[in-house]
Amino acid sequence: MTRAMGRLLDDAAEGGRITPDEALLLYTDAPLHALGQAADVVRRRRYPDNIATYIIDRNINYTNVCVTACKFCAFYRAPGHKEGWTHSDEEILRRCGEAVELGATQIMLQGGHSPELGIEWYERIFAAIKASYPQLTLHSLGASEVVHIGRTSNLDHATVIARLHAAGLDSFAGAGAEILVERPRTAIAPLKEKGEVWLDVMATAHGLGVESTATFMMGTGETNAERIEHLRMIRDVQDRTGGFRSFIPWTYQPENNHLKGRTQATSLEYLRMVAVARLFFDNVNHLQGSWLTTGKDIGQLTLHYGADDLGSVMLEENVVSSAGARHRSNRTELIELIRGAGRIPAQRDTLYRHLAVHRDPAEDPVDDRVHSHVSSTALNLVPVAAAG
Ligand code: SF4
Repeated sequence: MTRAMGRLLDDAAEGGRITPDEALLLYTDAPLHALGQAADVVRRRRYPDNIATYIIDRNINYTNVCVTACKFCAFYRAPGHKEGWTHSDEEILRRCGEAVELGATQIMLQGGHSPELGIEWYERIFAAIKASYPQLTLHSLGASEVVHIGRTSNLDHATVIARLHAAGLDSFAGAGAEILVERPRTAIAPLKEKGEVWLDVMATAHGLGVESTATFMMGTGETNAERIEHLRMIRDVQDRTGGFRSFIPWTYQPENNHLKGRTQATSLEYLRMVAVARLFFDNVNHLQGSWLTTGKDIGQLTLHYGADDLGSVMLEENVVSSAGARHRSNRTELIELIRGAGRIPAQRDTLYRHLAVHRDPAEDPVDDRVHSHVSSTALNLVPVAAAG
């Protein structure tokens, strides 16, 4: 390692703000282990309690009907397609009830951009969920849905956000960011709102008191410089609003879609991204490592590359799974992955507050029903006692 690179890593580890050019240099040239070590120094300073978190939630994909036709998406069906579906209110509520029974604290409603669903549909379902399950946090939709609902219902973005919030939406998920840089975004999602619009909607939401996360789907053909530019765009907005609670990168899954296997980020590229993100985002509190798209071993390794959170058990997930993400896990396994990385596992809520800290393995929760499920079919719910 050159002396200049060593100095840059030391400065970044000490918390000095790094420029996009420096981030790109670290991403492409820093020795892998030194890069991870620098990110881990930052993580340890931010979380000296040595805790790494997970959450129990359920993605409920309410419709697969979508007019936006992203090339990387294996989940959607065009309006009128015979395989298109939209869940009834009763079905969505039933799935929320199952989630509550399994200990979920958060629901992520995510779906296609159906021209049939105007703002009244979302208001009705959010209000119904909150009326039946007030204990659930609705961390749902995202900037793309706001844009779509605004178009469908002829409303400006601020009005859409305010009405969704009033109906029960607590915070926005960061999905739909994909890559915000114009060239690669247009190549993979030409009908989606521009990256600048995605950020503008998020900034508007933050200004109205609705916080969110920010995501990155890497590996669809973007350059290294474009990867770092994605981070820069988010950091600049965060400087103004402070509303992004966490940054969540994952890797594009290449099956059953129009991009096919054209490109995908490697495990090492993913780890480098996680570490650089921790060093670059001096203004974002949390960093989530993905096990769903990269596998549990890489997910566990992210905890040594700056991540402080392993995300969700995912009682249901259909969108990324449709494109080939085969990894499944359960609560016991996530706890063991975190403990195996030398961290203290803790279940968190949407606001990253610790709900249960698992210090003693002998007292770990035992409920093997709490596992990932691609749930177009119903969960197999049996009483805990009967399940042994
Ligand atoms: S990623 Fe979302 S917006 Fe894009 S086609 Fe799939 S469902 Fe539609």
